[in-house]
Amino acid sequence: MGLFAFYQCRATRRQYQKKDLELKQAITDIEQSKVALQALVEEQKQSQDLLEDRVQERTLELNITLQELESVNQELERKNVSDELTGLHNRRFYDQKIQAEYRRSRRNLTPLSLVIIDIDHFKSVNDTYGHLVGDQCLIWLSKHIQKSLKRSTDKAFRYGGEEFCLILPDTDLTGAIALAEKLRETIATEHFQFEQADFSVTISCGVSTYQQQNDVTPEQLFSVADKALYKAKHNGRNQTQYHQFT
Ligand code: GH3
Ligand code: MG
Ligand code: MG
Repeated sequence: MGLFAFYQCRATRRQYQKKDLELKQAITDIEQSKVALQALVEEQKQSQDLLEDRVQERTLELNITLQELESVNQELERKNVSDELTGLHNRRFYDQKIQAEYRRSRRNLTPLSLVIIDIDHFKSVNDTYGHLVGDQCLIWLSKHIQKSLKRSTDKAFRYGGEEFCLILPDTDLTGAIALAEKLRETIATEHFQFEQADFSVTISCGVSTYQQQNDVTPEQLFSVADKALYKAKHNGRNQTQYHQFT
């Protein structure tokens, strides 16, 4: 080999060695980049997991809050239609319900009965035993009233102080009188007991039934049941009277 060829060969080898070094460096760079990229991907995955955990946690919290809100709403709705002392429905709900049941009765051509109940001589209960015992007596009577209802569509209301009423859908006059009489008899025979107090009370009932008669409104249905109640009081109390539309 000539001197020129020798130098050329050496230069070429050096060039190769340089390229080889460059290549190795490039591979090292790529390896490092790969490691860095993996670390980045791992970090991203961790933060995504963290984010998902947080979202899940917040969703759970939100659902719990929604459930709480829902039960608060239900409680509010219940209070809105309930009588605080007795737990029966209140007068406000009666006003809504009677309209709805009246419309249903017209639509379905079914009878709709109303019973108004008033405790006899309740004032003397308060006067003799005090208001607190009077209140307990109202609670006791309410339980009996509620128990006297056999259909889920029958509803009991505390209409006023010691006045109650029943809305009995799909019930004719005979059925309503029977229910009122059974309740009246039960109350007359049961004893109310609370602390030292032990006595019995009686109730009077007024009944009316709507059966698609002309020009009878829910207000009239109530008014005639009230008149029947007045008649029961006038005739000596502890009885049921009724009004029949012609
Ligand atoms: P009647 O047989 O004619 O119905 O006589 P009464 O004494 O029951 O009737 P009246 O309407 O004269 O009196 C009703 C009484 O009911 C008077 C009132 O003090 C009492 N009352 C009304 N609301 C309540 C209440 O929430 N608690 C108690 N303890 N008494 C009440
Ligand atoms: Mg009374
Ligand atoms: Mg009264």
